[in-house]
Amino acid sequence: MAGRRTFFFEGLGVSEGIAIGPAYVIESEDFRTESWQIEESEVEAELQRFHEAVGLAAEELRGIRQQVLEKIDRQQASIFDAHLLILEDPQIVDETVRRIRHERRNAEAVLWEVTQQIGEMMKSLGDSYFAERNHDLYDVSRRVIKFLLRIYAESHPALPREGCIVVANGLGPAETAQFSKDHVLGICTNEGAATSHAAIMAKAFSIPACVGLEHITHYIRSGDMLVLDGGEGKVILNPTADQIEFYREKGEVWKKRLESLRTLRDVPAITLDGVTISMMANLEFPEELDTVDLNGAEGIGLFRTEFMYLERTSLPTEEEHLRSYGHVLAKLGDKPVVMRTIDIGGDKLPSDQPVHEFNPFMGVRAIRLCLQRPDLFRAQLRAMAMAHAGRELNIMIPMISGLTELRESRNILDDILERLDREGVNPPSKVNLGAMIEIPSAALQTRTLCEEADFLSIGTNDLVQYTLAVDRVNKAVASLYRQTHPAVLQLISMVVEGAKETRTPVSVCGEMASDPKLAVLLVGLGIRSLSMSPSSIGAVKQVLRGLSCADAEAIAAEALRQDTPEDVEVLLHFRLKELQAKIDHEPVG
Ligand code: PEP
Ligand code: MG
Repeated sequence: MAGRRTFFFEGLGVSEGIAIGPAYVIESEDFRTESWQIEESEVEAELQRFHEAVGLAAEELRGIRQQVLEKIDRQQASIFDAHLLILEDPQIVDETVRRIRHERRNAEAVLWEVTQQIGEMMKSLGDSYFAERNHDLYDVSRRVIKFLLRIYAESHPALPREGCIVVANGLGPAETAQFSKDHVLGICTNEGAATSHAAIMAKAFSIPACVGLEHITHYIRSGDMLVLDGGEGKVILNPTADQIEFYREKGEVWKKRLESLRTLRDVPAITLDGVTISMMANLEFPEELDTVDLNGAEGIGLFRTEFMYLERTSLPTEEEHLRSYGHVLAKLGDKPVVMRTIDIGGDKLPSDQPVHEFNPFMGVRAIRLCLQRPDLFRAQLRAMAMAHAGRELNIMIPMISGLTELRESRNILDDILERLDREGVNPPSKVNLGAMIEIPSAALQTRTLCEEADFLSIGTNDLVQYTLAVDRVNKAVASLYRQTHPAVLQLISMVVEGAKETRTPVSVCGEMASDPKLAVLLVGLGIRSLSMSPSSIGAVKQVLRGLSCADAEAIAAEALRQDTPEDVEVLLHFRLKELQAKIDHEPVG
């Protein structure tokens, strides 16, 4: 590393742990285009790649234009006509072709340079009309380059990622899950926030990760040496020998702490005054089951079933669902499982499929999609029921906004159970239908929902997003995404109180449950069942075992009286400091 400057990047640590190793940069639409020379004999193939990418971009634009025309109006669709015209503009296309031939360089680098030249020229005209066209020009070029990179990647097999730290603009949950199979050391991205699904996946697979690092992809090239601290959200490019040594030691300390927390695997999460908190795990992929067992989860409080739909173009069949659920249930033995029906949409779409909704988190997501596509919903519900033959079935519906969706789900489920009965299929021993509380309207209607729901589970990741109107994956508003916002705490408290009359069980399965400090707050608010990333169970259990429920209730009552998230955080910090100091001095166990 001698002679190379050291750079520091600060972002958001979303999955604890230290990674030290070479970078593997995944180029994306928001990239720094690499430029390379090509041989004379490669020029024609390069031009063909360019024309193919232009053709694919045009096809994609026509598809989007058609959708916009059908769903919105002609005026909005005409934006894409303008984009298609840019694609045919000889100033861009012919100039790019001429320069690829003349300079013998790759298409993406040349196209980007041509775009920048024309863009600068348009900007110099200082006219708002041209400023707008400038924006369109860059947009179209990026679209072509996206296809160029894909065509390149198809003909150049990917370098092995094993043993590398992946650096990318942003990642989807499916790609992140793939990294675990590829044995990557760590992940860092320009975009992302703590509760984006990619972050949740990284934590699930214990891959150290930092997100929201702004422009890190602009500074790092594949092969550069990196240190990543997933707890603190730090990345160091070209670390010194001393820094490497420091972080290696820090990594060892962290691993030892994890091991020591695992000694808590078989002890219950019981507070000093004898209140037992049920510690459940969130499961995103069947491959995680070993970590569930390793960390001593009492069951699965949230089985996210979206993995069945990721990285594929066709829908999973009933048999595929059945096989997969059967495998998970067999591995879990008699531990309880809460199966969530699919929550596709938002940021959980396969990342290579263009999203045609302008606001997917508010769009056709989760139960909304299921009710629009009963074929998809029914296949999943049937498989869930069949997989639970002779065993208790807990089904949970995401994105419930009110009673109607819960009722419609119940009607479909009842119909499926009746049909299975007529077919002579062995039924579940009991069927419970639960609602996720992740939209404020549902929280406000807790009493009404409890008349018909068998249980509730609070999805704080979305509850925070929808209560505060803060996109959970948008880095630009990440500082406004506050789990400690008094409005969020009040809604949680309202749900707990509302469910009391009917004695409807309430748990929390959002990321709040994974944070020991916030878990104390949740217990203080009356939650007795927490479902979290399996790797967090030890740390949460340790804190809960070190205080009394009465302490937690006093802290929560005080928190509810605060005015701002900052006030709540300061309060939590000081109230827990004494308790924490006590815990740190006691041996684990
Ligand atoms: C939540 O919203 O808190 C939740 C658990 O669901 P997901 O993160 O899958 O949206
Ligand atoms: Mg959710």
